[in-house]
Amino acid sequence: MIHVNTNYCKGCLLCVEYCPKKVYVKSEKLSKKGVFPPEVKFPENCIRCHLCELMCPDFAIIVEDKNDK
Ligand code: SF4
Ligand code: SF4
Repeated sequence: MIHVNTNYCKGCLLCVEYCPKKVYVKSEKLSKKGVFPPEVKFPENCIRCHLCELMCPDFAIIVEDKNDK
């Protein structure tokens, strides 16, 4: 399971850029913060490398290791 806290996300989209499996796409909807956050579009492709979690400057992403998508 991938959690994106859109209250923290500043829309830098590093997660979209760096995910090796292209799990994220840029959302078409503005968040409450007025930015376009990532949308978890292809969770089934996630290999749980945690790169997105590590890259996110605002600690907005949590990737659970459990296999419950
Ligand atoms: S890296 Fe973090 S702050 Fe940047 S778009 Fe992704 S979730 Fe938002
Ligand atoms: S854990 Fe790795 S594969 Fe999964 S969404 Fe994050 S960067 Fe992509």
